[in-house]
Amino acid sequence: MGCLSELMKRHHGIEIDEGQERLLMDDLHAIMDVNKTMNLTRILSEEGGIVLHLEDSLTGLPFVNDAPEGLYGDLGTGGGFPGIPLCIMTGRQTLLVDSVKKKVAALEGVAKEIGIGERVGVYGGRIEDLAIERKGDFSVLTARALSSLSSLMELASPLLRKRGRLVCYKAQPSEDEVENALGIQELVGLRLECDQAFCLSDGSTRRIFVFEKTGAPRIKLPRRNGLAQKDPLRPRP
Ligand code: SAH
Repeated sequence: MGCLSELMKRHHGIEIDEGQERLLMDDLHAIMDVNKTMNLTRILSEEGGIVLHLEDSLTGLPFVNDAPEGLYGDLGTGGGFPGIPLCIMTGRQTLLVDSVKKKVAALEGVAKEIGIGERVGVYGGRIEDLAIERKGDFSVLTARALSSLSSLMELASPLLRKRGRLVCYKAQPSEDEVENALGIQELVGLRLECDQAFCLSDGSTRRIFVFEKTGAPRIKLPRRNGLAQKDPLRPRP
C-alpha cells in the first residue's frame, strides 16, 4: 500500500485502490511539473502536495458519492483541486471551471497525459456565464478556496439540478460567514444537508458544508458578473 492510500484509510476511512493511487500521484506530479512554468499552486514539495492537495481534495469524496448520478463540476478549479482527484475516484464525467483560460488549458493537457482525458472537460470562463449556458446540468459541484459560502451558494444554485449537491471545502469559516449562508438558503433554493468538521493528517482543521438544491431560487440568477463575490446576498429581514 502506498503512502496516500494508507493515510486516507487511517485518517478518513476512505479506500483507494492501486490504480487510483497511481493516477492521483501522476496528477500531483504533472501539476507540479506545469507549476514550474505557470503559477498553479504555492505548494512545492511532494509531501505538502500529498496532504494539502490530494488528501484534502479526497475528504469530499463521500459527499460527492452521495449526490445523484450525473455530471460533476469543480468551480474555480485553479490547479485542478479537488476536481481531478475526485474525477479519478468517482469516474464521473467532470467539468473543470476557471476564468483563467491558460490554467484550464494546462489542466486539459494534464488530464490527457495521465490518461483520463475522456472524462475531463474544461470551461475557461466565469461561473456566471457557465450558468447561462448549462443551467441545471450538474448533479454535483465542488468549490475549494474560491469564495465565501454565500457567494458559492449563489454561483452554484443555477447550475444544479433539483436534489443536486454543492460541496464546499472550508478551512476556518467565521461564525458570520456560516450565519449568512444559513440565512440565504431559501433565497437561492438550497438547504444545508451536512456540516462536518475534521482534521487532516498534519493536524490542520477543515470543514465541509454540503447543500442540496431544493427548488428554484427566489431571485433571478445568475446576477451580473462579479456581484456574487463583490456584493454577496444577505439574509432578508
Ligand atoms: N480550487 C483551487 C484553486 C482556488 S484559487 C484550490 O483549491 O487549490 C480560486 C480560483 O477560482 C482561481 O483560479 C480563480 O481564477 C478562479 N475564480 C474566481 N472567481 C471565479 C469565477 N467567478 N468564475 C470562474 N473562476 C473563478
